[in-house]
Amino acid sequence: MDKENRTDLNFASLHPGEKSKSNFPDSKGAFETKVKESDTDKAARGQRWCLDDFEIGKPLGKGKFGSVYLAREKKSKYIVALKVLDKSQLVRANVEHQLRREIEIQSHLRHPNILRMYGYFYDSKRIYLILEFSPGGELYKQLTKKGKFSERLSAKFISDLAFALDYCHSKHVIHRDIKPENLLVGVNDDIKIADFGWSVHAPTSRRNTLCGTLDYLAPEMVEGREHDKQIDVWSLGVLLYEFLVGNPPFEAENHSATYRRISRIDLRFPRHVPTDAQDLIRRLLVKDPTKRMSLEEVPRHPWVVRNLSS
Ligand code: AMP
Repeated sequence: MDKENRTDLNFASLHPGEKSKSNFPDSKGAFETKVKESDTDKAARGQRWCLDDFEIGKPLGKGKFGSVYLAREKKSKYIVALKVLDKSQLVRANVEHQLRREIEIQSHLRHPNILRMYGYFYDSKRIYLILEFSPGGELYKQLTKKGKFSERLSAKFISDLAFALDYCHSKHVIHRDIKPENLLVGVNDDIKIADFGWSVHAPTSRRNTLCGTLDYLAPEMVEGREHDKQIDVWSLGVLLYEFLVGNPPFEAENHSATYRRISRIDLRFPRHVPTDAQDLIRRLLVKDPTKRMSLEEVPRHPWVVRNLSS
């Protein structure tokens, strides 16, 4: 199933008069520190954000359930990305729980490589997510444009992602869907994990319901076995391969062929991939989840150190 077919929500139960649980004004992020006293008072009075609090700018992109716009909070002048989701489309696709979980998880995470969700509000027709603006846009588009990334940039992305995923795991959150389509690029090539639509609170003994492109799924998922946080380590290996080579490692003409290649760890490297980079990828793409390299070790791997120290 592709990205477009994976989100799930049902916001019929969110009534326009209901108080939003927006955490936007009273938490401690950069945005909030710019919000003036009057806004904090507003939060204290239990009022919620509304569209009128924002000046809407250019469209940044379109997703399956709506569009994303550049926006500026009127009082603080703080720039954000406002994601506007169409309730009826969400209800039709029956993706309520997934969006609720995404909001719940993403709004509580605080890490430089995780896209901040400052809060949300809604009216009778739409749900609005107040997100950190990521000026570099989708990583997927950059990868498509460049074909592949330099070793140095790949090392920076992978090292930052390892820190961010390690942070998620420390909060008992498993992302489960790390791939270029779910990553944004901020200023100074800072990578941002942006889509928590498939994330869950660990521990999970869930059996896999196949979701996402097969290319990024770990063997335990394609084989329908139980999975845990180690699936994020696997997808980091797939991602690093794709950064350096330009396509994911187990790509094949159809799903069952990809399935076989993942299951057998049928890993082949083009000649240009240096042996130390191959070594890191092989340590991440290990069939036994318990034998995969720990996320903590990734930034210390010789290939990462070699590329980030120069
Ligand atoms: P999505 O609905 O999340 O797939 O977003 C649709 C498109 O909007 C993406 O492909 C991005 O190009 C853009 N976009 C989404 N969120 C942001 C953001 N926080 N900052 C900048 N661009 C974004």
